[in-house]
Amino acid sequence: AKVAGKNCHRFYSRAMDQAVERRVRMEQDLRGAWERGELSLAYQPVYSLNDNQLRGAEALLRWQHPEHGAIAPSVFIDVAEQSGLIETIGPQVLRAACEDTMRWQQAHPKSNKLFVSVNVSPRQLRSGDLPRVVATTLKETGLEAERLHLELTETAVIGDEIHASGLLSRLRASGVKIWLDDFGTGFSGLSHLRRVPVDGVKIDRSFIADVLRDPDDLALTTAIIAMAHSLGITVVAEGVEKEGQFDILRERGCDLAQGYWLGYPMNAHEFAQLLA
Ligand code: C2E
Ligand code: CA
Ligand code: CA
Ligand code: CA
Repeated sequence: AKVAGKNCHRFYSRAMDQAVERRVRMEQDLRGAWERGELSLAYQPVYSLNDNQLRGAEALLRWQHPEHGAIAPSVFIDVAEQSGLIETIGPQVLRAACEDTMRWQQAHPKSNKLFVSVNVSPRQLRSGDLPRVVATTLKETGLEAERLHLELTETAVIGDEIHASGLLSRLRASGVKIWLDDFGTGFSGLSHLRRVPVDGVKIDRSFIADVLRDPDDLALTTAIIAMAHSLGITVVAEGVEKEGQFDILRERGCDLAQGYWLGYPMNAHEFAQLLA
């Protein structure tokens, strides 16, 4: 038993070494990936539930690794966040999203009200640099502040609410809209809405997934919508994969929806065709 235990220990430490090694290698590969053209943005359409009109798009980062192919954002964003690389990549994403949105408008003038939503990681928020980066990007690309939406997770805001609230207030004063992403997963969400200034919440797709089967999830979703509206906050449902989900969300007064049933994330060129 002793021998087995020893082997077991060695096995686990080797497995751990390999995991660490993989992360280090991924970090090295990620460095300069934007400049090499390996990173790109996919845009997922967001629709209004009461008139079925296209309202905007969420920008989602994609990495096509030269050897390993497409890598899941949940994996490489985490590496970028831990290593600090997100502080370089984040502003590049922001700029590209604003540029693409301006290009759509030039090609299709009627799209001049569409918003573009950009995900901002906790580290970007903590760095304190965000208001300056946002202001410079808007100025240089010419995008109206009102059309830029920033998506933050509850976890980015929790912990340092005073700092976060100050930053978010400054951003909102400039016209930029602030969204709380993956809303409902953090448990403390409801009370935070009173203290953290936001324009909208995105109901996490884990609630939407079961909204037709699980009465608890429907009750929670309905409660989030009612509470948000009473505070003057807009609500997006994410992960809408079925017509039935779309219908029940509309019935419950949800404002916007996004999900595979409405449209998959697509490249900027494909999104432009959607506007034609
Ligand atoms: P998220 O912000 O919650 O983005 C929504 C995710 O749900 C996307 O995954 C999207 O492709 C996926 N999705 C959309 N509709 C559906 C649906 O109907 N069903 C299901 N099952 N999934 C759907 P993706 O693109 O893999 O991104 C994963 C996460 O990576 C994002 O979650 C976000 O947290 C992060 N991320 C992506 N791009 C960026 C970025 O530019 N910056 C930062 N900081 N994070 C990013
Ligand atoms: Ca998001
Ligand atoms: Ca989300
Ligand atoms: Ca459930």
